[in-house]
Amino acid sequence: MSYYAAPIAKLIDAFAKLPGIGNKTAQRLAFYLLNMPMKDAEELANAITNARKSVRYCEVCCNITDKVKCNICSDLKRDDSIICIVEDPRDVVAMERTKEFKGLYHVLHGAISPMDDIGPSDIRIRELLDRLKGDKVREIILATNPNIEGEATAMYISRIVKPLGVKATRIAHGVPVGGDLEYADEVTLMKALEGRREI
Ligand SMILES: [Zn+2]
Repeated sequence: MSYYAAPIAKLIDAFAKLPGIGNKTAQRLAFYLLNMPMKDAEELANAITNARKSVRYCEVCCNITDKVKCNICSDLKRDDSIICIVEDPRDVVAMERTKEFKGLYHVLHGAISPMDDIGPSDIRIRELLDRLKGDKVREIILATNPNIEGEATAMYISRIVKPLGVKATRIAHGVPVGGDLEYADEVTLMKALEGRREI
């Protein structure tokens, strides 16, 4: 049984479900919220609901967007002959920060991981293959994370695109091994991109 009144207990439970938030932090956040001006609390609640409602996946690259086609895919100045493949929408943001890459992206939403029962059909590989039909794309850059799952995913994709005549390159290991792309700084990412090699 909770010592808190039901609405507070519910709020604490909701916070505790978020990543990286333990019970203590959940309690702290809940009480902080209860002392917020009503207007701020309402704004926060609306921001959450609106973001959750309007979010969708770009029909081309599977990145998170609020449109049918995301801003990057709709940008005619971008080079549509080269696609950078990443695991997570946050990796797109990290790559964009380098201002180095002018091509398009494809977001897999995960990586192949037999240990976690995640196979090729569980991530957005089929959507990628659809994009490679036709002869527009000449290179894909595999920018999956430099860990076991990321490497396995890169190898798998490079193997299946080879018969399609698309060049597959892997970003260099400027990105710390075992690390997450999204936490790499811009210079490291830029070097990793420049140093990519064919696989
Ligand atoms: Zn897109």
